[in-house]
Amino acid sequence: MFVGWGGCALGAARYGARSIGRMATDLVFPPVCLACDRELPPQTPEEGLCCECLAGFCYPRGTICPKCAACLPPNGDRRIRCAYCRERRYKFAGSFALGTYAGVLRQVVLRTKKSAHESLATAMGKYLGRRLLDVWGNRPVDAVVPVPMHWMRRLTRGVPASELIAEGVARQAGWPLFSDLVRSVRATRKQGTLMPGERFRNVAGAFQLSPRYDIAGARVVLIDDVMTTGATLDCIARILIRQGVGSVHAAVLARGVGSRS
Ligand SMILES: [Zn+2]
Ligand SMILES: [Zn+2]
Repeated sequence: MFVGWGGCALGAARYGARSIGRMATDLVFPPVCLACDRELPPQTPEEGLCCECLAGFCYPRGTICPKCAACLPPNGDRRIRCAYCRERRYKFAGSFALGTYAGVLRQVVLRTKKSAHESLATAMGKYLGRRLLDVWGNRPVDAVVPVPMHWMRRLTRGVPASELIAEGVARQAGWPLFSDLVRSVRATRKQGTLMPGERFRNVAGAFQLSPRYDIAGARVVLIDDVMTTGATLDCIARILIRQGVGSVHAAVLARGVGSRS
């Protein structure tokens, strides 16, 4: 279940652990928020994001579908499947998003896709990792796995945001990272250019698992920047489950909604 924004208190407590060397550097080059470039006040969460940006990501409390992370109508009956889950029987067991793909969070996600902002993607991953620890408590996780990018697209786009986010999640939460467990074996059309129904067909057969790992019974967290229809995450979850993993959960920065999602 979603737990509301925990504020900057945790980050403020951690600030004391920063190295003397870094604090001296901060006096000369005051740190700025990786998302909005505003100067950061002294007691800021270690991810390097200002409180205003972080507060802009939040969902309202208690109105999130635990399966697909979509916003439910206010006062809706949580026992009834949300509209997205009625349409698709997702293979992942549940998912978490920092917020809706809109406003500040949308701007931040778009920025993480550019190679000049790789540190922002990792910072967002660390923040996502911190939120997952809050929300999932002591749920054991055996593998953090990013949604992969096909090598041809990687040649032009560089390291995918999903990989940097997964790195941040793994580092923050202390969970093992398996960046090469899932491979993209077929170049697909960009999901964002397709209508919802086409997106599931577009990714079918596009992924394979590396034979290097024994994943039987493993509890996997799949990481991506945005979940829209959930087609990509669902496709990979299917493959993982077919190969015998114990469970698959999805974690993303933002949940896309709307007619083209
Ligand atoms: Zn900011
Ligand atoms: Zn749902």
